[in-house]
Amino acid sequence: MRYDAVVIGAGLPGLLAAWKLAEGGFRVAVLERGTIASESSALAAGHIPQESTSPANLAVLCRTRAIIDELDRVTGGVVGFHVVGGLQMATSEEGARALRARVDQAARLGVAGEYLEPDTIASRWPNLRTDDLTGGYYTGTDGFVFSQTLSVVLAGMARNAGAEIWEGCAVDRLAVDSGHVSGVVASGHHVTTPRVLVAAGAWSATLLARSRIFLPTKSFILQAIIVVGDHGGLRFMSEFEAGHYVMPRSPGALLLGLPPSDIGVDADRFSRHPDPETSTEWLGLLRRRVPSLRDARVAGGWAGVLASTPDAWPLVGRFGPEGLFVATGFGGGGVQRLATAEAVAQLMLDQEPFYDIHAQEALRFDGYDGAPFEFREGPFYYTETVATQLW
Ligand SMILES: Cc1cc2nc3c(=O)[nH]c(=O)nc-3n(C[C@H](O)[C@H](O)[C@H](O)COP(=O)(O)OP(=O)(O)OC[C@H]3O[C@@H](n4cnc5c(N)ncnc54)[C@H](O)[C@@H]3O)c2cc1C
Repeated sequence: MRYDAVVIGAGLPGLLAAWKLAEGGFRVAVLERGTIASESSALAAGHIPQESTSPANLAVLCRTRAIIDELDRVTGGVVGFHVVGGLQMATSEEGARALRARVDQAARLGVAGEYLEPDTIASRWPNLRTDDLTGGYYTGTDGFVFSQTLSVVLAGMARNAGAEIWEGCAVDRLAVDSGHVSGVVASGHHVTTPRVLVAAGAWSATLLARSRIFLPTKSFILQAIIVVGDHGGLRFMSEFEAGHYVMPRSPGALLLGLPPSDIGVDADRFSRHPDPETSTEWLGLLRRRVPSLRDARVAGGWAGVLASTPDAWPLVGRFGPEGLFVATGFGGGGVQRLATAEAVAQLMLDQEPFYDIHAQEALRFDGYDGAPFEFREGPFYYTETVATQLW
């Protein structure tokens, strides 16, 4: 078995890269130990903001949306970009200042966001309690996608372009000869290839560590709770200080996304079900913000494991021996930053990446030796800018 490129992991970035590589003329195989999108790529809230304070990140977010719009056209509406806007609310003076600074910085990049005083929020969102708010930031163009549907469609595109996707095929380790990738060992078989893309989510670091290649990532958990109740047509909103957000799922149901927890968790041992007590506590906070949800109840939920880097930017491009590429370390933003995988595919095809990957290049951590580290600001916070963002 000989391929021009092997992709490890059939999550969103792995599948997009496989499609683009196959379209570019490569013979490609995706090796997936479970099934297509068997981990976080099927569990995401799918939020894709269209604002950022970093030019590179903004280019990625806009390209992600363009890819989704293209898939929507090709599939006759199977993958929709559902525009729900994005309201971030602050309850402290410091939070309000950070949001105001963010509006100004994003405006310099051409983002049409608005800083909102609490009384403006009260008049435009009459279903919210606003007496404790100090300010807000609204962008009207943010949206979401159903991430499992997107994954399946990307798998279809990859297959149509000629990529093979092997499910139930766990990669044990990388094969490296004289400083050059020569293949992978999967389920005891050697698969020959001069190029490997590691897109194995929270398992990327442990997989590469078996070949003594160290990626600086740390795992954590994100939980989503489904709340059923009268939300009065609520669209996307998030709380700056507490870190939770809500995403409409249907007229009578919301996805309540919790902030990161269990930092440093073992990706092979975590609970896939939100703790009922924790769910009830967060539902209480949500009910206080949205009084019409007073009779709302928790109708289920799930938890997924993610990995982030010291500076919370992803790991993109070349790393380690010749022929090794990575697209991982997305933290809680792998759907919105999906397009980074297209840039990695372009590199693998010896083309110019569509955006300047410099700030996200995995090689910024060249020489990392596997030592424990702390997140500089947290798993979601980009250090490239002064202002923070929720993910
Ligand atoms: C509750 C929740 C809400 C989220 N909300 C958002 C959101 O609103 N917006 C956003 O942008 N992002 C969101 N995310 C984050 C997003 O889901 C992830 O960043 C993204 O899916 C990461 O994709 P991935 O392919 O890197 O990882 P995964 O989807 O976890 O895929 C990794 C794949 O690699 C496979 N694999 C692992 N080891 C091996 C091996 N040895 N051999 C072969 N295959 C292997 C796994 O089986 C898996 O299929 C959310 C995540 C969660 C859990």
